[in-house]
Amino acid sequence: MGLVVQKYGGSSVADAEGIKRVAKRIVDAKKNGHQVVVVVSAMGDTTDELIDLAEQVSPMPAGREFDMLLTAGERISMALLAMAIKNLGHEAQSFTGSQAGVITDSVHNKARIIDVTPGRIRTALDEGNIAIVAGFQGVSADSKDITTLGRGGSDTTAVALAAALDAEVCEIYTDVDGVFTADPRVVKKARKIDWISSEDMLELAASGSKVLLHRCVEYARRYNIPIHVRSSFSGLPGTWVSNEKPESQGDEQVEHAIISGVAHDVSEAKITVVGVPDKPGEAAAIFRAIADAEINIDMIVQNVSAASTGLTDISFTLPKTEGHKAIDALEKAKGQIGFDSLRYDDQIGKISLVGAGMKTNPGVTASFFQALSDAGVNIELISTSEIRISVVTRQDDVNAAVVAVHTAFGLDSDSDEAVVYGGTGR
Ligand code: ADP
Ligand code: ASP
Ligand code: MG
Repeated sequence: MGLVVQKYGGSSVADAEGIKRVAKRIVDAKKNGHQVVVVVSAMGDTTDELIDLAEQVSPMPAGREFDMLLTAGERISMALLAMAIKNLGHEAQSFTGSQAGVITDSVHNKARIIDVTPGRIRTALDEGNIAIVAGFQGVSADSKDITTLGRGGSDTTAVALAAALDAEVCEIYTDVDGVFTADPRVVKKARKIDWISSEDMLELAASGSKVLLHRCVEYARRYNIPIHVRSSFSGLPGTWVSNEKPESQGDEQVEHAIISGVAHDVSEAKITVVGVPDKPGEAAAIFRAIADAEINIDMIVQNVSAASTGLTDISFTLPKTEGHKAIDALEKAKGQIGFDSLRYDDQIGKISLVGAGMKTNPGVTASFFQALSDAGVNIELISTSEIRISVVTRQDDVNAAVVAVHTAFGLDSDSDEAVVYGGTGR
């Protein structure tokens, strides 16, 4: 029996009862002969509540102090979980990200892990302890300040520790039974997937399926760590995510499903730069200003310029949380770029269809657009990759669009409704 890393999300440890329930599960794994490292998130919606609190004190909280504040959430749950395990008669020790050796760059609020040195975790395990690690946080190698990894970052902590400790598996425990063909909160007929390739999971995660963070999937793919996503509320087997299909999941030769799933995302906003001179260098200047503000963008579209004015509009999407920063950056560079005005729209949503089989099935795009049209959904932006098509629509249309596309591609389950055990979906 080897070492396992188990990660429990906020909804699994939402209250004292949840913490006790999870503690029992952890102890069971230990009793089965495993060395157990647990990564835990903040309780329930604690992180959101801390963010709300910070916003009441300062309109745009960010940086060092914001990270100090947010990491407090995981400190609470790690200590309580260690206490609950001890109460069951087993040894446990909790560690902050920094104590666990999670070393990051110095970009506050969305730091990247650059190294993991889990010496103290190894020692704790060797001494017979269960090690509990606070997710979503690390320490900067340069500034020595505490950093956070971005929302949902505990998933990445878990996989990074699994890689550094050479774990057998990284188990991600959450409030649904695994990865489904769509968010079960939106599509009651969503089907649980038994196995999904890292490639398809990466694309789903990047398109908004928050059941796994895309950086965590990226990390797992690079270090070849199998992930098992499952519910902490039921004993059911969940979804395996790995580079190669495991033998236990059936015939290796079976073709990929054409479509793995439908993802949606309502966390983005759209900025339109109106009246941009249609000449070389303009797009470069706009996106240089955005990049210098360390903002990642998603989709871009440039309209055909009106011949009479020689002016065009450029629209792009970005996380809502970066909206203010992007507008500020563009306003500052307005003189140099030369545009008329900026429009900001945070009432958009994105729907994506993902599947490796798309590469060889030419009808997929047409069927996708047909399903949206049949549901009366208007498309505002389109982007594609080899294994994904995404569209931007009005936010109000997103749920109906996801349901329609899911049905149109024959993904609806004909058995029971998908269960959501907890969480507020926030
Ligand atoms: P945790 O608190 O455990 O980290 P999250 O809220 O981050 O949980 O992720 C679990 C949620 O992800 C589910 O409750 C579900 O609403 C959502 N979700 C979105 N897309 C999917 C999908 N394709 N399969 C399963 N869950 C999904
Ligand atoms: N508590 C953090 C968040 O809510 C990290 C996590 O849960 O993964 O984003
Ligand atoms: Mg999560």
